[in-house]
Parts: sequence; C-alpha cells; structure tokens
Amino acid sequence: MSARARPVRRIVIVGGGTAGWMTAAALGRALAGQPHSITLVESDAIGTIGVGEATVPPIHDFNRYLRLDPAEFLRATHGTIKLGIEFEGWGGADHRYFHPFGYLGIEMSGIHFHHHWLRHLAAGGDADHGPYNLETMAAREGRFAPATRHGPVHHAVHFDAAAYARLLRGYAEEKGVSRLEGRVADVRLDPEDGFITSLALDDGRVIEGDLFVDCSGFRGLLIEGALRTGYCEWSHWLPCDSAVAMPCESAGDPAPFTRATAREAGWQWRIPLQHRTGNGHVYSSAHLEHDEAEALLRARLPGAPLADANRLRFVAGHRKAIWNRNCVAIGLAGGFLEPLESTSIHLIQTTIVRLLALLPRDAIDPNVVARFNRDALREYEVIRDFVIAHYALAGRDDTSFWRDVAAAGMPDSLAERIEAFRATGNILFEPGDLFGPTNWYAVLTGQGVRPKSWHPIADGLSDAELASRLATLRGRVAEQLAELPPHVEFLRKL
Ligand code: FAD
Repeated sequence: MSARARPVRRIVIVGGGTAGWMTAAALGRALAGQPHSITLVESDAIGTIGVGEATVPPIHDFNRYLRLDPAEFLRATHGTIKLGIEFEGWGGADHRYFHPFGYLGIEMSGIHFHHHWLRHLAAGGDADHGPYNLETMAAREGRFAPATRHGPVHHAVHFDAAAYARLLRGYAEEKGVSRLEGRVADVRLDPEDGFITSLALDDGRVIEGDLFVDCSGFRGLLIEGALRTGYCEWSHWLPCDSAVAMPCESAGDPAPFTRATAREAGWQWRIPLQHRTGNGHVYSSAHLEHDEAEALLRARLPGAPLADANRLRFVAGHRKAIWNRNCVAIGLAGGFLEPLESTSIHLIQTTIVRLLALLPRDAIDPNVVARFNRDALREYEVIRDFVIAHYALAGRDDTSFWRDVAAAGMPDSLAERIEAFRATGNILFEPGDLFGPTNWYAVLTGQGVRPKSWHPIADGLSDAELASRLATLRGRVAEQLAELPPHVEFLRKL
C-alpha cells in the first residue's frame, strides 16, 4: 500500500521543544486508549531554542484540556501573571500606552463600548480609558486574583517555556507517548507520492510512521529539509531578523505585565518571572551590529545578568503549507512572527487544535489538508497585520531603522482595517480572531490613530445618560479592583 493510502495509526513527532511536547501531550490525551502509537524523537545534543516566556490568555484553554491544575502549572513553570503589554517609546521618547487583556467597557445599546467612548472624547471628555478596563487598572496597581465577585480577571502568564515543556513531557509519557533520544539523520520518502515513510537516526535506528509532525524548530527538518515546501517571507514589512536574550536578577516584585520598549533598531522585552526577569533585544541586523545589540541590552538590564547571551536569527513568515503530504509543521518549523504580541506559543496551540479537529482516521484527504492550510495561513496573516500595525503607525523617524520601517508601508489588509477605523470607528475582525475590538482599539489609538466618527447608535444616549453609564462602569471597575490582592501576594500563596 502506498504511503498516501495508509490509515493514520503511527504518529511521529520530531522535536522536544515547547511545540513538540505540547503536541505530544494533546495527542496523548486525545488518543488515550486508541490503537495509535505516538513517538517523539528529540536530540539532547541539538537542544531547544531556550526562549519564549510570554503568552496570551487562551493558553488556559490548552491547560484546561489537559486538566492541568493552574496553581501547579504556575509553580512548575515559575510563572507570573500577565494582564497585558506596556508599550514604551513606540511613538517617540515619552510615549507609552497599555494593551490590556479583557474588555474595554461593556457593550451598550448593542454596540461596542468604544463607539460611546469616541463620542465622549469628541465632546471633550477625559482621554484615559484605563478606568473602564479592570486589567489595565490591576496592572497599574500590581494586583491580581483569577476572579472577582463580578467575573474573571482576564490574564495570560509569563513562564519558563523549557519548564513547561518538561511538565508536558511527564504528562505525555504518562499518556503513553514514547520518547526517543537521538538525531534524525535522514528522512525517507515514498518514491511514488513523496509522502514520508520513515526517519533514520544517526545510530541506525529507523522510525516508521503514517503521520509526521515537524516540531524541529527553525530548521524545519521534515517540512522544508525533506519536502521543500517553501517559505513565504514578510521581512519587507518586519525587518527585524535577530534577537539577543539574557535573563537577569529580578529588581523588586514582578510586575503583572510585559514591557515592550522601542529601541534604535527594534525593541526590547522585559518579562518578569518568579525567580528572574527575562530580557531580550529584537533588532534588524541590517541596521545594528550583533555585538552592539548585545551591548545595548546589557547596558539596559534591570539587574545583574544570570546567563550568557543567547543570540538568535529568524525570518518573519511561514511555510507555504503548514500541512504538506503527511507532514504537519508546528511551532518554529511552521513559521515565525517576532514576539511583540507573544503569539508563537499560541500559534502552536491553535495548530494542534486544528490538527486534532481534522485528524484523519483513514487516508489523508486533500480537501481536509487544503482547509487546514487555508485556516492556518489566514491566522498567520491576521496576527502579522496586528504586529505590523505597531511599526507602521509608530511615526518615528529618528533612526534609519524607523525611517525604513515607515517607507516599507503595510499590507493592504491592514491599511483597509486602519482606514475603516479612522473613518468610522469600526474595527473589522472575524469571530474567533485572537485579537478583537479591545485589542485593536488599544493598539490603534495607542499608536495615535484617531477615528473621525463612531457608530450612529452611540448618538442615541443623552449626554446625561452617557455620563451616568460611564460613571457606573468606572465604579464597577474600581469596586472589582479593590477586591484584588497584590500580585506578589497571589504568587506567594500558590
Ligand atoms: P525548538 O525549541 O527549537 O525545538 C526544536 C526541537 O527539535 C528540539 O528538541 C531539537 O532537539 C529538535 N531537533 C531539531 N533537529 C533535530 C534532529 N535532526 N533530530 C532530532 N531532533 C531534532 N513565543 C511566545 O509565545 N512568547 C514569547 O515571548 C516568545 N519569545 C520569543 C523570543 C524569540 C527571540 C524567539 C526567537 C522566539 C520566541 N518565542 C516566543 C517563540 C518560542 O520560543 C517558540 O515558539 C517555542 O519555544 C517553540 O519552539 P519549537 O519547539 O518550535 O522549537
């Protein structure tokens, strides 16, 4: 039987980084008790990328699916809480804004809060929308609990991704996933249809499979090395191609948010964990030498360094197909967008969910593969646009990097979204998108876009009624805020 016609029973995952072990854990849980075998091969000699510390809120859905206990998860990964991202310097030296999780206000008269807010602003109202979003206020005051009497506090986590992979490895092995240590030296293809039939390790072992999941990191050993899938590159809009990462000692209590500070030729992250602070400098090597980038990061660390610098290279974009023949690429093997909005681990998660939803029982169906790829690539494009919005709207011209970024423009899909917002106040998004109205509103207005109009329904409230509703909302947020303990106290009680 040709490889193409075979039912999927033997699943082989290459790579034991965050992507590999997240995939192994989810497949292990989903297929427990079924006649499938799941094998993960990883090479200790090659190791993992060793960065990846900030997440977005749906990570909790993944953990819930695995039935991980939230406190155990935070303890095992040295995690802290992330309520959003503070952007500094993206519109010039003293410019800052906060991109929070959760919702800005609540829907009123069937339309999103921000339309009412825009009307309020046009009438000369106070411009700070922070008091209408609990997560912004909790971040400002360094407070957190998972919920108040009125509902959840929307949050993600900062964590040690390597510790997360270790936690998931234990979980996956308990579910029957077999782990092999060794280096894949050769990928063998069916001469008839080009499907992968087996992997040869450098010690001579051979691993046969029906479905292969490529979690081998940037090298894309299967999807690219063997299948030559091709890469769709976005570096003309996202010129940063390098990063240097370096953890340091914590200075003070961990803040419950990520900080992303624009720099001369890129930006710098600061991510507080329980036991250290993660730092990194993302930059364009065409505008800044690697040694200088490292020196600038060292000079701007908030504490003493705890490890040597980890230098990384990448290309913004994705494989032309995430699922090619009998190979699905998950994690860095599938594509990469710089961590400005902490979306890589999320893309791992959604690719796993998509694979689980469409997992073949018998032969792999090309229509299923086409649908999988269409959805996966659309998701990359939407997140790409959100990341590019930060750069394209930055309006800085103080260095050659920022001048080149301004000249690069933006994809039409983003330009249309921004123009629609500017002209009407409407935020164009699809249900199920990771970033909804609050996220787009925070970033677009944070980067200086001022809508000229708002939804006509917002004119239906009288001035007095609008003022009273705003006061009620502010009061509700203030009440919830008062219920929250300091973030550090929450962590201490884990
Ligand atoms: P890797 O960690 O590189 O793992 C690859 C695996 O494949 C390893 O186990 C390796 O041993 C194995 N392998 C490779 N070749 C072979 C072979 N021949 N034989 C056997 N095994 C092999 N994501 C976020 O969500 N938030 C962040 O804040 C964030 N920050 C980032 C910052 C930077 C600068 C970068 C570059 C990435 C960041 N990411 C972030 C992305 C995140 O690090 C990755 O998405 C995540 O770690 C998954 O990596 P991976 O498992 O795909 O690859």
